[in-house]
Amino acid sequence: MQTVLEVGGLKLYYRTRQGLVKAVDGVSFTLKSGEVLAIVGESGSGKSSLGYAIMRLLPENVALYEGKIVLYDTDRAFDIVSLDEETLRREVRWKRISMVFQASMNAIDPVSTIGDFIYRILREHRPLNKNESLKLAADALKSVGLPATVLNMYPFELSGGMKQRVIIALAIIMRPLVVILDEPTSALDVITQANIISLLKELKRDTSMILITHDLALASEIADRIAVMYAGKIVEVGDIDDILTSPKHPYTMALLGSTPTLRQDKELGFIKGQVPSLINPPPGCRFHPRCPFAMDVCSKEEPPEAELARGHKVSCWLVRS
Ligand code: ATP
Ligand code: SF4
Ligand code: MG
Repeated sequence: MQTVLEVGGLKLYYRTRQGLVKAVDGVSFTLKSGEVLAIVGESGSGKSSLGYAIMRLLPENVALYEGKIVLYDTDRAFDIVSLDEETLRREVRWKRISMVFQASMNAIDPVSTIGDFIYRILREHRPLNKNESLKLAADALKSVGLPATVLNMYPFELSGGMKQRVIIALAIIMRPLVVILDEPTSALDVITQANIISLLKELKRDTSMILITHDLALASEIADRIAVMYAGKIVEVGDIDDILTSPKHPYTMALLGSTPTLRQDKELGFIKGQVPSLINPPPGCRFHPRCPFAMDVCSKEEPPEAELARGHKVSCWLVRS
């Protein structure tokens, strides 16, 4: 399989009155064509920040944004970190890589029809007239299981599940190479969640996905690989089977231990302690204050990344290549 996205040493820090928030702090991974990579971790671990960093949608208080993000199309590669804004807007964002933002279904303009809402967003990225855009929108709605009549409806006429489908339709409307989905099911009831999960399973045939979620059960239903994020870093990444049946990092083990059955949207808060502040993260291994296996070295030096079979990578002093 070909690499469609390569992320290396990516950092995104925010400036705050309390100090620098190191939300993404040296993240590396690759995404292959047709693959679903889940980014899993507790609230505040930097998952959404990673999504925004990949899209290069940065807030005003960004203090540091560096590293490598390369998107590979068949005949062209785009270096997202250094690309000029115009090319990024015209050629990359939305067209080749798009994002379903966390809780975005609540951000659909309440006073526009769905058709007008989609048209306004589309024309920012492509010189389309309204009819062309409505045709594209109708096709995208069809592929998420919604009839074209939805284009004439207002958000208040749609259920939560339908709104989420509209948002997913908008993300795939330009047939991007990669879609980033940030907590795509978290605001939905269990049955609607199950419907959205089946939809994502269908869509993964056509596009590579990065699925951001705190829900390991959701990740295990859709993903081919899982990257576990803790306090701004990826601490373990591997094929779904390796992660689920043979986790190596104590944090991944704890996450699995706190996911008793599939499909239960359990919060992960009951791992002892909390995700540390990203302003002054613990030295050495950031998980050491919560780790039952912590040794002397863990609070002093950052663990190196060990590479096991099939691209299974782990950053823990207990694991050697
Ligand atoms: P959740 O699961 O709750 O969505 P997350 O893993 O997506 O969490 P982020 O939203 O990326 O985490 O936030 C990571 C850290 O960065 C948090 O401490 C958050 O408060 C902080 N943060 C996010 N955006 C900003 C910002 N613009 N300025 C300062 N701090 C920020
Ligand atoms: Fe625990 Fe040490 Fe491994 Fe960190 S490096 S997860 S503290 S054993
Ligand atoms: Mg988030």
